[in-house]
Amino acid sequence: SPEAPYRGRFAPSPTGALHAGSLIAALGSWVLARQAHGEWRVRIEDVDRLREVGGAATSQLDTLQAFGFDRDGDVLVQSTRDARYAAVLDGLLARGDAFVCHCSRADLAATDGRHLGACRARAPRLDPAIRLRVPPDTRIEFVDAIRGPQVQQVDTEVGDFVLKRADGFWAYQLAVVVDDGDQGITDVVRGADLLDSTARQILLQRMLRLPTPKYAHLPLLLDADGRKLSKSADAPAVDARDPMPGLHFAWRVLGQQPIAVGTPGEFLAHAVDRFRLDRVPRHDVGIAAMHYPSH
Ligand code: GLU
Repeated sequence: SPEAPYRGRFAPSPTGALHAGSLIAALGSWVLARQAHGEWRVRIEDVDRLREVGGAATSQLDTLQAFGFDRDGDVLVQSTRDARYAAVLDGLLARGDAFVCHCSRADLAATDGRHLGACRARAPRLDPAIRLRVPPDTRIEFVDAIRGPQVQQVDTEVGDFVLKRADGFWAYQLAVVVDDGDQGITDVVRGADLLDSTARQILLQRMLRLPTPKYAHLPLLLDADGRKLSKSADAPAVDARDPMPGLHFAWRVLGQQPIAVGTPGEFLAHAVDRFRLDRVPRHDVGIAAMHYPSH
């Protein structure tokens, strides 16, 4: 059967201004979509209302525009999707593929927080979580276009994972799988911090009879202490008024040969011609060595 036309996406969480790490994901996902003559969708992943920063989504969208990343279609906003996620969850519950779980963190401490098989709740909670029932012997294999062959034994390494959190919010894993499916995403290009989530997402796609996209995980930016940069409070924001330093920086982190041109539009046109996936590092990158532009 003919392959679906390429459709990629960039899915920032509105937890602050667009930072250097998300710029790498934006550039990588955009350039691969354009090289494939495909579409590039943008989705605001605001299911976690506790981490959301007011105005961040608007500022991120403005920054993408200032950098010259043209998008296709409307922006999908996860906080408008409660009814859809609830319908999917109800289906999983009805089939016995999901279950209500009263376990607390303390109940799962002995298994490092993993929920393996049976519930061990010592007391009912007012606010139970809902978990996916991961079938025994669930070994998920996939080939990442950058990081190569991957394997995860989801039942033992991860356990029954949360689909709806005890605090009432949708879990990222559920929202991302439903949205990638509903948006017809064929290619997921994102930061390597999510490499470890991919097997869970593939399992959920299979249980929901959704197609599995291709995956490419881009290098993660690490701070001087080796921590994921975007998780640290002082991750530098990219400057929407002055895109070129950020573009050159992200391009370098992606392992590409320098492009010497003046405007973001010229830069991105050259980027589509010259980007080579085989040059992208298969490992994370320390920001100190990359000379992040200060402004
Ligand atoms: N919203 C996630 C983030 O900002 C990205 C999710 C994804 O690309 O699957 O880290």
